[in-house]
Amino acid sequence: MTEELLRIFREKGAYLDGHFGLTSGKHSPVYLQCALVLQYPGIARELGRNLAKLAGDRIDLVISPAVGGIVIGQEVAFHLNARAIFAERVDGGMTLRRSFAIRPGERVLAVEDVVTTGGSCREAADLAVDGGGVLVATASIVHRYADEPANPTDKPHHALLKVHAPAYDPERCPLCEAGTPVEKPGSRAIK
Ligand SMILES: [Zn+2]
Repeated sequence: MTEELLRIFREKGAYLDGHFGLTSGKHSPVYLQCALVLQYPGIARELGRNLAKLAGDRIDLVISPAVGGIVIGQEVAFHLNARAIFAERVDGGMTLRRSFAIRPGERVLAVEDVVTTGGSCREAADLAVDGGGVLVATASIVHRYADEPANPTDKPHHALLKVHAPAYDPERCPLCEAGTPVEKPGSRAIK
C-alpha cells in the first residue's frame, strides 16, 4: 500500500520534494497536501477502505477535525458503517456544532488527513470522550514526523503512510544554508 499510495500522492502533486515555506512559517524539504488526492472521490473511497481496514474494530462513530479530516472521515465511516461527524475550531477551541452529538458508550475513531503533532486529532478525540464516547483509536492517511512519529492519544494510531518531513525555523534551515531557493507550494506545474 505504501509504495502505491506514495505513487498516487506524487502523481497528483500532493507530495513534493524540494524546499518549501509552510503556512506555519517553517521550512520543509517535503510538501504534503492530502486535499489534492482526496479531490478524486474514487481515490478517497479507496483510502477510506484501507484506513477502515486498519483501524476498524466495531466503530460506531467517526469524528474528524474540520476541514482536513472531513472527507476522509466520511469515507472511513462509510466502510465501517458508522456515523461521521466533524469538530470545528471556534475561538481557538474544538467544538461540535450543527447539533452533532455523541451518544453515551459509542465506540469512537478519530480520523484526520495528516497528523503531525496530532493536536487537532487529539482535541476531536477528547471532545468525543467528554461527550460520553469510548475512544478506540485514532487514524490518519499520513503520519508526518520529524524525529519519531508522535501518537495523538494514548490509544493506537493507524496511518497508511508515514512520511519523514522535518520542519525548520528559517534561521536554522539547512536548505536555506545550502542556498536552495524557497518554493511556494502550489506554484509548481503538475503534469
Ligand atoms: Zn529554508
